[in-house]
Amino acid sequence: MKFAITSKGDQKSNILMHRIRTYLLDFDLKYDEDQPDIVISIGGDGTLLYAFHRYSSRLDKTAFVGIHTGHLGFYADWVPDEIEKLVIAIAKTPYQVVEYPLLEVIIRYQHAGKESRFLALNESTVKSIEGTLVMDVEIRGQQFERFRGDGLCVSTPSGSTAYNKALGGAIIHPSISAIQVAEMASINNKVFRTIGSPLILPSHHTCMLKPVKRFDFQVTIDHLTHLHKDVKSIQFRVPEEKIRFARFRPFPFWKRVHDSFISD
Ligand code: NAP
Repeated sequence: MKFAITSKGDQKSNILMHRIRTYLLDFDLKYDEDQPDIVISIGGDGTLLYAFHRYSSRLDKTAFVGIHTGHLGFYADWVPDEIEKLVIAIAKTPYQVVEYPLLEVIIRYQHAGKESRFLALNESTVKSIEGTLVMDVEIRGQQFERFRGDGLCVSTPSGSTAYNKALGGAIIHPSISAIQVAEMASINNKVFRTIGSPLILPSHHTCMLKPVKRFDFQVTIDHLTHLHKDVKSIQFRVPEEKIRFARFRPFPFWKRVHDSFISD
């Protein structure tokens, strides 16, 4: 089996990275940074987001496992004290793979024919470069509302505990293939009206944003931020691709939610 390791880059994570690499090489596993079967992410959720984007072109062939050396570690469910146990499990046991749904973002531009496609593990947010974001929101091809406000956040179920949660969105179990649209400070008064509640769309529904007056936007895909000019539409849906996590022991989602947000 071929493995790769991504580290947050701090001293603690780097020391662990070298130890795990040595242990796994001793077990005759091969280090392959380009085509790994398993990627071990050492740091926090931010490190796992980085690893996901590094290997997003081979999601069907790569499984991820996270060790957390930082604060939260929602995706990273192993702690440094357990690395010997984890190394033996990786080297000796066939692991179970758990798949979580992702978010597909397709940005089309005013110049016909041009489009960009992204996959997000947590979410994508759309904000105006200047002034209020004004977007027509279409759901399943039908005009739903004209949104005015700071921005919109479209998240995956596993990303529902991240930015989406801070916006008052619901936490969704990642066995549910869906996307969630949450508002950022919408303008609501006698003149302007939005739904005001987060929306959860099933995998066969698409959400499309169409600019009304301004056409340049700041779009985030997880931790990455890009400026997009002359935008015609931004489309969100659940893609075919999924992220695959290597599971060596049960760690139920609701326990992870409890341990991350209530107490551990
Ligand atoms: P960051 O600002 O350094 O960290 C964001 C925090 O979100 C970290 O504590 C991170 O955990 C945690 N996190 C990431 N994914 C999570 C998930 N699925 N469930 C629960 N918590 C999660 O940024 P970053 O490390 O580059 O991560 C980018 C992410 O930050 C974005 O995808 C977005 O979800 C989140 N964000 C949140 C807010 C907000 O809550 N108001 C605002 C902007 C961005 P670790 O400490 O383990 O890395």
